[in-house]
Amino acid sequence: ARRSSAELIRAEEPVLAHNYHPLPVVVARAEGTWVEDVEGRRYLDMLAGYSALNFGHRHPALIEAAHRQLDRLTLTSRAFHNDRLAEFAEGVAALTGLDMVLPMNTGAEAVESAVKVARKWAYDVKGVPDDRATIVVAADNFHGRTTTIVSFSTDPTARTGFGPFTPGFRVVPYNDLAALEAAVDETTAAVLIEPIQGEAGVIIPDQGYLAGVRELTRRTGCLFIADEIQSGLGRTGRTLAVEHEGVLPDLVLLGKALGGGIVPVSAVVGRRDVLGVLRPGEHGSTFGGNPLAAAVGSAVVELLGTGEFQRRATELGTVLADGLTALLGRGVLGFRARGLWAGVDIDPVFGTGRGISERLMAEGVLVKDTHGSTIRLAPPLTITAEELRSALGALEKVLAHG
Ligand code: PLP
Repeated sequence: ARRSSAELIRAEEPVLAHNYHPLPVVVARAEGTWVEDVEGRRYLDMLAGYSALNFGHRHPALIEAAHRQLDRLTLTSRAFHNDRLAEFAEGVAALTGLDMVLPMNTGAEAVESAVKVARKWAYDVKGVPDDRATIVVAADNFHGRTTTIVSFSTDPTARTGFGPFTPGFRVVPYNDLAALEAAVDETTAAVLIEPIQGEAGVIIPDQGYLAGVRELTRRTGCLFIADEIQSGLGRTGRTLAVEHEGVLPDLVLLGKALGGGIVPVSAVVGRRDVLGVLRPGEHGSTFGGNPLAAAVGSAVVELLGTGEFQRRATELGTVLADGLTALLGRGVLGFRARGLWAGVDIDPVFGTGRGISERLMAEGVLVKDTHGSTIRLAPPLTITAEELRSALGALEKVLAHG
């Protein structure tokens, strides 16, 4: 017999590492903006897999691309060429306006890869003495969970108990060009930042910050690496969030939605004189650039090429922002929003972010808290205005009964 949600949650407890604290919902199927649990209850998905589901669950064009590829070829490893990889790399390069692609799988791998590339570039091109390269990052960053990445996290939960850490990183406050300028010196390989800090609570820097980072890195001769793993691919109303300030970094990191919510696909995208420093054998991945990933990734690039998703994020972003503005002072202390992405600070009197998330779940809306009393809203870009208003209505109801 099929196990109930409660039984499945209980069954996980002894056999699954406790590195997550999920909401008590067991999803069994999904389509578009909706997911359905084991008992057939339906929920509006306002998290969208942390932006991995920008095109919604099981977008027909993406599912078709995956099916077609499953029937032909799924994996070669990079020991051989595969007939899907050229198209994928051409598409990603054209989409971002950059030259070259290093395909990987997860976001953390893309970040790790960029750290390696930036260091290699510093030694081979910039002439930094061996093992002296530094990378400047921002406080409250989130770039993933590997040992090197948590080495430059400022979140004690992410770090404590996981040392010793990788050296070579300098942390400066986010959105502070003077601090950045003071941290950059002749050893600096790169400045690595999120154009909008996602996990920190959708923190949007002042207008001019990203352009300032671009100017500073160009002037001082180091690389600008933008981690667009969560902010990119339509979420903010542009293909890349850096486009809001009209800047092009030297390296752009993509992940999450690049795999269409079907397979893990990430990439370091960059200028030829930077990514070109890698030689055979120096870096790689068994699964990176596999034909299934490339086929789905190419279909994602094609969807984004229409501009429809960027347009929807912009237009529906005003519905989201208007709805949140109406809740200011009625349980919402403040919010930050760009496109279909918002960090909402709930008045702690009304509960923790977790508590609000659980009550929204009871109303059929799935969200995730970030820190303390902040919840994050990031629905699929396929959401309708009506669905978005109903989610905002659920939030209003939860706060009214706070
Ligand atoms: N970088 C950013 C900005 C992210 O938001 C995330 C995931 O939330 C990552 C990197 C890590 O991606 P992954 O979980 O695929 O390793």
